[in-house]
Amino acid sequence: MFADRAKIYVRSGKGGDGHVSFRRELYVPDGGPDGGDGGKGGDVIFVVDEGLNTLTDFRHVRKYEAGDGEEGKKRNCHGANGEDVILKVPPGTVIRDFETGKVILDMSDRTEPVVFLKGGRGGKGNRQYVTSVMQAPKYAQPGQPAKEKWLILELKMIADVGLVGFPNVGKSTLLSRVTNAKPKIANYHFTTLNPNLGVVDLGENNGFVMADIPGIIEGASSGVGLGLNFLRHIERTKVLIHVVDAASTEGRDPIADIEAINTELLQYSKQITERPMVIAANKCDALYGDDYETVIEMLKEEYEPKGIRVFPISAVSGKGVQELLWYVNDLVKQAPDDVIRFESEMDADEFIDQPELPFEVKKSEDDAHLYLIEGPRIERMLGYTNLESEKGFAFFQKFMKDNGILEQLEELGIEEGDTVRIYGLEFDYYK
Ligand code: GDP
Ligand code: MG
Repeated sequence: MFADRAKIYVRSGKGGDGHVSFRRELYVPDGGPDGGDGGKGGDVIFVVDEGLNTLTDFRHVRKYEAGDGEEGKKRNCHGANGEDVILKVPPGTVIRDFETGKVILDMSDRTEPVVFLKGGRGGKGNRQYVTSVMQAPKYAQPGQPAKEKWLILELKMIADVGLVGFPNVGKSTLLSRVTNAKPKIANYHFTTLNPNLGVVDLGENNGFVMADIPGIIEGASSGVGLGLNFLRHIERTKVLIHVVDAASTEGRDPIADIEAINTELLQYSKQITERPMVIAANKCDALYGDDYETVIEMLKEEYEPKGIRVFPISAVSGKGVQELLWYVNDLVKQAPDDVIRFESEMDADEFIDQPELPFEVKKSEDDAHLYLIEGPRIERMLGYTNLESEKGFAFFQKFMKDNGILEQLEELGIEEGDTVRIYGLEFDYYK
């Protein structure tokens, strides 16, 4: 089976905690602080591997976790950094957030590795907290928490040319005709949910990959039925061939059909409709005499002034097909080579709260002026929040307020000047 989607979990490494220790040497009674810094957590990195063409590997292994940074050591020794995790993906892979479906990163034109989730910074050892008034600090900085995310990897198939049209206009027939005619043509096997791809080989470096995109129906752009799923596949094509039933064998009006499909495409993406288009007026073998002239003239009058060429063809007999293919070949060659890239809709390390995760606000048992806030939800929030930035700190304050944490502290009897400890971070409490 062709795998073009995979759901995976990624996690960066936690930063190692800074260390608290004091020098102990023979003949030196009171050594100074010598706690080393914690190591940096490993990054989650994505890189394109041109040799890959499926996401199958990601169906076997779903969890990717970078290594945690080591805690700092005594004698000013730095903890080791956590190992990065490097995920190799095929060209054309788009990374989406699982929860929101938003695009985070499109790897299609990335030649360099991309750091997706940064590992947590290591904490500073107590040696770094020496000041003129504090010669022997018993405090070290905790390492930053890890970041995690569930992702959808999606492989955009890269077809140069897409066949669009209503059902039964002859798209599949055309594709199979064009590919069957050449023994060298590669036929890929896809499930029925995916479009069929075929290589049209015109010889001497001429040719292109063509996709038969089934299932475009009215309402597809609003997600009705399978339409949207199929539309995804034409986003990267360079040229569109509108296939119409010029013989109206099912009583369809070719111009109305083209307009309906265009409306559908426009609603889905304006970019798609700006691509070069060609009309393949199919089933010309089933048109006789005046009818033939009339329909073709009608289509030409309507579309050729707009720069859209009309080719009368018969996918069954092959008549007119070569002319169509060579013209399309030229359009593909003229099309700019830059791939259509999806804009990022969110950052990889944007914090998405998980209100179902627990946390706790409590009073310390040994210190009347110390309050503790901890739990997975808090730890996770801290991982995504840079308290050193103004924006991050404002977010943190708002989080404390919105989740009733300030209220709970009040209920526990907190007073001005008391200390609030959150995973090694300490704050003085003021109303
Ligand atoms: P699709 O739904 O657009 O993929 O259409 P198909 O390729 O499955 O074709 C639908 C029907 O139209 C089939 O019965 C084909 O044999 C017929 N058909 C396709 N192309 C031609 C053609 O050029 N001439 C005639 N007479 N029939 C055709
Ligand atoms: Mg078909």
